[in-house]
Amino acid sequence: MTRKIAILPGDGIGPEVVTEAVKVLKVLQERYGLDVELEYGLIGGAAYDVHGYPLPDTSLDLAKVADAVLLGAVGGPKWEQLDRVLRPEKALLGLRSELKLFANLRPAILYPDLADASTLRADVVSELDIMIVRELTGDLYFGEPRGIRQNSAGEREAYNTMIYSESEIERIARVAFETARKRKQRLCSVDKANVLEVSQLWREVVTRVGNEYPDVALTHMYVDNAAMQLVRAPTQFDVIVTGNLFGDILSDQASMLTGSIGMLPSASLDEDRKGLYEPIHGSAPDIAGQGIANPLATILSVAMLLRYTFGALELASRLEGAVATVLGSGLRTLDLHPAPGRHVGTADMGNAVVAAL
Ligand code: NAD
Repeated sequence: MTRKIAILPGDGIGPEVVTEAVKVLKVLQERYGLDVELEYGLIGGAAYDVHGYPLPDTSLDLAKVADAVLLGAVGGPKWEQLDRVLRPEKALLGLRSELKLFANLRPAILYPDLADASTLRADVVSELDIMIVRELTGDLYFGEPRGIRQNSAGEREAYNTMIYSESEIERIARVAFETARKRKQRLCSVDKANVLEVSQLWREVVTRVGNEYPDVALTHMYVDNAAMQLVRAPTQFDVIVTGNLFGDILSDQASMLTGSIGMLPSASLDEDRKGLYEPIHGSAPDIAGQGIANPLATILSVAMLLRYTFGALELASRLEGAVATVLGSGLRTLDLHPAPGRHVGTADMGNAVVAAL
């Protein structure tokens, strides 16, 4: 059965890194029998420039009929002055909610060959392998009411609503327990239950779901402590589950433990495991067009796509192995702190992964 992948390169370095990921997909097609059809669409600023809207219907429809979506990145200074609803980043929020992608999986893995690229001591991050499961469609980012208004004193005030229903907490908890089950069977739920009612309900529901997973050791941690523990002793974590806001911050923090934002993939899944796969980094306008961006986060997003949506575990491991081989051979893009004058460009890195495959 031919499966369809919607390819949405986006803005800035998005098209550059997606080009390398597509090279990899083509090799998997030609040499390993991966039966996929790739179809391209515009998103973000690139879509705004053509259609006057960052998430045109053609791209949304393409994403809806596809089995999976591979996205580069969106945004850039050119579109920063636009109205909030027309900003490139709005397309991502729209895509996530239209596709009902409620579970964001972000691994933070330290490749042994990159231990020196971390800002933490090598002995603190050695063997780091964390999976952060972040709820993606609720919380402060979507809660209503929200807005800026004038209060009774005539002063402007701004407000957002932190809100989670029991069913929303339950379904993300299940994804997290299932994920932990396939790893080291440890799950840490992060909240702020000492202050927030939302977190009190979160903790209660996660604990209740945990009764169905006696094989997974569940712990709870306040978010401020979690932020501290992530830099103090990050290898204590296996899987972390948390809400949209806390997950946004903690997953960026965890990403830096691994040395470069250019190494980290992500998956956003719906109830049927259809997914949007993208690097966690943005469009990096400061280096766009120079051919120096690290494509490995996007290539590793393809590996996640193979594992989580296609269930092609062997191919996924093969691709991750190829990335490890390339890093082991000493190849480094600029963000991975190569020896002076020894860095390779985006295309060279992509070609090396293809060769290792
Ligand atoms: P960014 O992730 O684009 O860049 C942060 C820093 O990391 C920059 O110095 C950049 O050069 C570097 N970097 C990022 N990816 C890299 C890669 N693959 N290889 C080498 N270096 C890399 O974050 P930012 O600068 O805060 O945002 C830039 C734009 O991207 C903004 O418009 C922002 O809204 C958007 N953004 C989009 C997404 C997304 O599409 N998912 C995520 C974050 C930010």
